[in-house]
Formats: sequence, structure tokens, C-alpha cells
Amino acid sequence: NKPTSSNFIKNIVHQDLQVGKHKEIVTRFPPEPNGYLHIGHAKSIVLNFELADEFNGKTNLRFDDTNPAKEDTEYVESIKEDVQWLGFQWENLYFASDYFEEMYQRAMLLIKKGKAYVCDLSAEEIRGYRGTLTEAGKESPYRNRSVEENLDLFDRMRKGEFKDGEKVLRAKIDMASPNLNMRDPVLYRILHASHHNTGDKWCIYPMYDYAHPLEDAIEGVTHSICTMEFEDHRPLYDWVIQECETESQPQQIEFARLNLTNTVMSKRKLKQLVDEGVVDGWDDPRMPTIAGLRRKGYTPEAIRRFCREIGVAKSHSVVDVQMLEHFIREDLNAKAPRTMAILKPLKVVITNYPEDQVEMLEAENNPDDPAMGNRQIPFSREIYIEEEDFMENPPKKYFRLFPGNEVRLKHAYFIKCNEVIKDEKGKVIELHCTYDPETKSGSGFTGRKVKGTIHWVDAKNAVPATFRLYEPLILEEEQEEEKSFLDQINPNSLEVIEGFVEPNMKKAELQDKFQFFRHGYFNVDPKDTKENKIVFNRIVLLKSSFKI
Ligand code: ATP
Ligand code: MG
Ligand code: MG
Repeated sequence: NKPTSSNFIKNIVHQDLQVGKHKEIVTRFPPEPNGYLHIGHAKSIVLNFELADEFNGKTNLRFDDTNPAKEDTEYVESIKEDVQWLGFQWENLYFASDYFEEMYQRAMLLIKKGKAYVCDLSAEEIRGYRGTLTEAGKESPYRNRSVEENLDLFDRMRKGEFKDGEKVLRAKIDMASPNLNMRDPVLYRILHASHHNTGDKWCIYPMYDYAHPLEDAIEGVTHSICTMEFEDHRPLYDWVIQECETESQPQQIEFARLNLTNTVMSKRKLKQLVDEGVVDGWDDPRMPTIAGLRRKGYTPEAIRRFCREIGVAKSHSVVDVQMLEHFIREDLNAKAPRTMAILKPLKVVITNYPEDQVEMLEAENNPDDPAMGNRQIPFSREIYIEEEDFMENPPKKYFRLFPGNEVRLKHAYFIKCNEVIKDEKGKVIELHCTYDPETKSGSGFTGRKVKGTIHWVDAKNAVPATFRLYEPLILEEEQEEEKSFLDQINPNSLEVIEGFVEPNMKKAELQDKFQFFRHGYFNVDPKDTKENKIVFNRIVLLKSSFKI
């Protein structure tokens, strides 16, 4: 199950090892702990871990926790759990916040070299001075402060003498650079906020563009893989590495982030769905989070295969979410035992079947894999079938049950519908059928054929169950910024119904996965399943029109 196909990042790594630029490669997965991981992160995780693995290198998990405002230890724990669940083990666990002192020292070095200065302009003024793509920026009036003054002010920033936003530390690069990121970017800002790791020790925090290259260099990362929006930041990344005189020189490589149809994939938006109660937490099975996919019933194997197959490129693209579904279907087709479940029950009385008799019928757990064995299912005078498998006045070519018609009950007998019982409003509430003992499944009966096969469960022994059926949470594709994605929420994303499963399902454990005959693949919900009520989440339908 190892990746084999090549991609441009592997080519770079291969080349670097061949020319002896590195003896061993080191990659990292660097999440900010401000939310749960989603399927997009899985792409980055699979890429970083499998790249290092293929070249006998190492991968670290590093929390990029330089912004105290949005970070939380709950997220740290969930991220660790999700990476491991996906099947990866990091070499080292790091926190960027552990390097705050070292980053501070490097900033002092920049000041001493005349490469950084304390600036009193407000954020808005800095934006105004920066200029545009067609117009050079204007130098800050504080740009030429002396090294002594800068050292003194930076020290006082750290000591907490100034309020949030009053001063920043900026790199002194080039206000006329065609790359806006190089026009004296901010390196440090003042923020009087408590940090999940360092508490109140710091009130100045490094900006991403300054912190990230240093984190990579401190850890000896050789290939720092990030998404395309950082391509324009690479000159700044390299500037920080060079001017801070770090011992090791990591190389930034960009690839296109994963986008999926009918899916929002920014932590900010996902958090909004959680905070506004649109979903039942970060692990709601409708969420594209790893925790949500796990709870829905996805396997790590399916997610890893998906991540490999979508490939690594630089060009922007949107992947059809049906491709993800393809891989879970394929995985579960091999692994999930078959069983019968009735989602919308209609009672059938088999009038010629002896009262009080129960017989056990043999059923295979997977017709494609005899090694998965057989099970015994009870059959007696009363059973449930799907409401949809009966029509009083069927159209042509309807081969399921209707008055006078005979169908096969999967693993059991042929039954014929003789009488339809209705309530006072005319709704069908029960069918009276007869069975033919000659037609028992596995008996080799060839006397006559029927066109329809339907599934059923024994009414007396059936186990009540709740089924949750899902549709995409987001209608259509994610649109441009103006329209709120909250307007695109599918009001029918969740349907909850009550039905029955085979009695042997009493033994099912949390997170067990099954193929319910004709209904698709289902997972035993790990949170809402109770001793006397199993809750099943539908993972995916049996078939899709999608081809890869
Ligand atoms: P979001 O916009 O969802 O908050 P982020 O990039 O800010 O994502 P980080 O925690 O910084 O989230 O991401 C950790 C790593 O995962 C980064 O290297 C980032 O590039 C990568 N990553 C995040 N989203 C995707 C995606 N959709 N496809 C591929 N990689 C991604
Ligand atoms: Mg980020
Ligand atoms: Mg983000």
C-alpha cells in the first residue's frame, strides 16, 4: 500500500539527496492548534510523512502556536489523536512557542545588523505606506532609528511598556520591491494575551512569516512543504533564514491545497458551524474534519488512498467529493460484513407459517469472501420489509411486492401478497402473505422464478435501531467571499429515522461497519449509541455514477 508514483516534490528530494545537499531529509506537519484537522490537512499529512518515509527520513509534528488569541489545548489533543489515527507517528513533537526566546534573540541580531527597526505607525498606516503592485511604497518615518534606540524600544516592547498595536518590529528590506511581502514586513506585534503554552510570559508575538522559517531551521527541517498561497512569501522566508544566520537552511516548496466540491474547508468557517450550532460539534459526521469522517465511518486506509490518488501539483483544482466516497466504498466492500436492516418498516404476516415457530436460516457475511463466514438469522410468522418494497398499484416493471405478486426474501423463501391492511386513513399498515416452503434459499428450488428480491428482518427478534442518513452539508460549490457560506447550508443534510436490524447486531461494537443490503455502508455511532439503542450513521451509498 506504499506510494510509488512520482511527483515534483519527490523529484526535488531525490535530487537533493543525490547531490549530497542533505544526508537525511526532515519534513514536518505544522498545524496551528486553532481548530480540528480536516481532509485538506490529511493531504498535507500524507504528503509529509510518506515523503520522509520513502526516503528514510523523519517527520515531526510541530504546533505552529504563535498566535495566542485562537489557540487551545483541546485542539492540540485532537490533532495528535487524528494524526495517529490516520496511521502516522511523528519522530518529535514540537511547539513553536518553545522557541520564543530564540526567536527574540534572532530579532535582536537583525536589529544589530541594521536589518530591523521598531515602527510606531498603526496597522492602517503601515498598509497605506506599503503602496500597491503598480506604485512603490513609502518609507516609514521610523525607519532610520539608531540601533541603540531600536534595541531599547524592542526590549521595552517585551517588558510590556506599550499597549497592543502601539509599536511593531519590522524588517528593513525594500519599500520599492515588486513583491509586497518584502516591503518592510512586520516581524513582531504587541499582544497582551495569555498563551496556551507560555501563559503570560510574553506580550510580543512573532508573525508567521518570521516565525515559520525559524521554526523549520531550528528543527533542522530540510524540506518545508506548504500550500501555494505562500509562494509569494518565499523570498521573505529565504531572507529570514539568511539574515538570521541560522545553522541549517530549509527549503520551502509549495503545492496546491485540496479543495472538494460541496465542502467548506477553512477552520474559521468550520468553527463557525460549530459555534452557531449548525452541526453537533467538530466531530459531527457531516463535517469534513478527520474526527467527523471517523465518526461517520471512514477508515484511515480509505483517506490515505484518496490523498495519494489526488496527487501533488501546483495548479489549483477542485476534487469531486465523490472521489473520496469511491475510496471508502472500495475499502468497505472488502471489509464490511453484509447484513439486513429495515429503515422504514412495514409489517408482513405470513399467514401459513406456524405460529410460535422460529427457524434459523444461514446467511453468508460476504458473498465475495467466504472467509468472512456465515451467520444465523431467525425467521418466523411476522417480519418487517421496507415500506418502499410494496406498492398497491405498481407501475409497469415494478418487480417488488404488490397484491398477487411473488418475491424472494433474501436468504429465506418466496412470499406472495394476498391482502393489504390499512388504517382508517387508508395508509397501508400491514400485509398478509403466504410463503412456499419449497422455495427455501439454498434448497436448489428451480420450479419457478421471481424477478424481485427484497430484504427483511424477523419482527419478534429484530433489534430497534436509529439510522442517520446524510446529504452534503453545503449545497453547490463554495462560492466567492461576498455570499456567506451559511446561506448555502443544506436544510436536509441530516435525516433521522427509526427501524430495525438483525438480532445478531446486538453484538456490534462502537465504530463497527456494515453493509446493509441495498442501503449502503453504515457505522455504529460511537457517541450516541446506547445500551438499548444502536445508532447507525450512513457512510456512503452502495453505488455512484462517479468513475475515476
Ligand atoms: P485553514 O485555512 O483551514 O485554517 P491553515 O493552512 O491555516 O488551514 P494550518 O493549521 O496552518 O491550517 O495547516 C497545517 C498544514 O496543513 C499547513 O502546512 C497547510 O498548508 C496544510 N493545509 C491546510 N489546509 C490544506 C488543504 N486544504 N490542502 C492541503 N494542505 C492543507
Ligand atoms: Mg496556517
Ligand atoms: Mg488558518
